[in-house]
Amino acid sequence: MFSNQQIGIDLGTANILVYSKNKGIVLNEPSVVAIDTETNHVLAVGTEAKNMIGKTPGKIVAVRPLKDGVIADFDITTQMLKHIMKKAGKKLGLSIRKPIVVVCTPSGSTSVERRAIHDAVKSCGAKQVHLIEEPVAAAIGSDLPVDEPIANVVVDIGGGTTEVAIISFGGVVSCNSIRIGGDQLDEDIVQYVRKKYNLLIGDRTAEKIKMEIGFALVDHDELTMEVRGRDLVTGLPKTIELRSTEIQEAIRESLLHILEAIRATLEDCPPELSGDIVDQGVMITGGGALLKGIQEWLSREIIVPVHISPNPLESVAIGTGRSLQVIHKLQKAAK
Ligand code: ADP
Ligand code: MG
Repeated sequence: MFSNQQIGIDLGTANILVYSKNKGIVLNEPSVVAIDTETNHVLAVGTEAKNMIGKTPGKIVAVRPLKDGVIADFDITTQMLKHIMKKAGKKLGLSIRKPIVVVCTPSGSTSVERRAIHDAVKSCGAKQVHLIEEPVAAAIGSDLPVDEPIANVVVDIGGGTTEVAIISFGGVVSCNSIRIGGDQLDEDIVQYVRKKYNLLIGDRTAEKIKMEIGFALVDHDELTMEVRGRDLVTGLPKTIELRSTEIQEAIRESLLHILEAIRATLEDCPPELSGDIVDQGVMITGGGALLKGIQEWLSREIIVPVHISPNPLESVAIGTGRSLQVIHKLQKAAK
């Protein structure tokens, strides 16, 4: 029924993905737009926009309209969606003329914002538009049995936010969202290097450090990495060597906030579902699930099994694309 023409869009704080049932992930680009500040027009979206950062005349700025998990500038988000739909349409060719589109909405979005996302997608030529809650999409995309009446716990550590949700029988039973995610870890690293070494490094360098030598709070064989930045005293470029244990110290506080959010959600769990969690455990997804040592650290701290999603960066997009089948099944079961 929904076979050919269904696509799912993940409007992430760091990355936007489009998934088609036939072709898989057809678009995966950073959630960045380049804007002409005089006209407020979107000039470029995604990778193209990201590459313009710092290289364009002053009146063109690059922004991340979804940065904190809520829609900061609505008009720009709408324009961005239109660009994305157009790009995805080109990649999919004519087969996607009148698609059925499912968009997962940021969990903090208001009904007015959701309506506007709906309308923006519709105006791009979608035959039908459905919105889905992000944690449900993340759970479906991580192969959890969300249509069963058992507790599925999903922890989605994204760029701008971490969302923890308990899902049962297709719906969110309880949910916690904090504005700490991968971006904050990058920021922590920038601050740490600045304070300890008087060295200024960029966000992208910090992200690279996190990916290469970042660890959750576990013992490990220490890694090191050479890092270049600008010496704040002399103003000149300088290279230093960072150790993975230093990075652990830098991101420690933020990781503990994430842990706290997970604990709070588990404590909120209705007693009938608690037993399931002990058996089933918790599914970690989002780019933050790729941090080294996160599985070992979390399972030690929350004392239930911890699983890492098969595709942490893609689970929401995949789940969004597959969600209509699940909704359909649930509706059938309810009859
Ligand atoms: P969103 O859904 O908010 O767009 P994503 O799920 O795409 O976010 O995750 C993006 C975040 O994941 C970024 O902060 C990025 O730095 C982080 N990330 C990606 N790969 C890794 C990795 N290997 N180790 C640690 N963090 C990672
Ligand atoms: Mg996400």
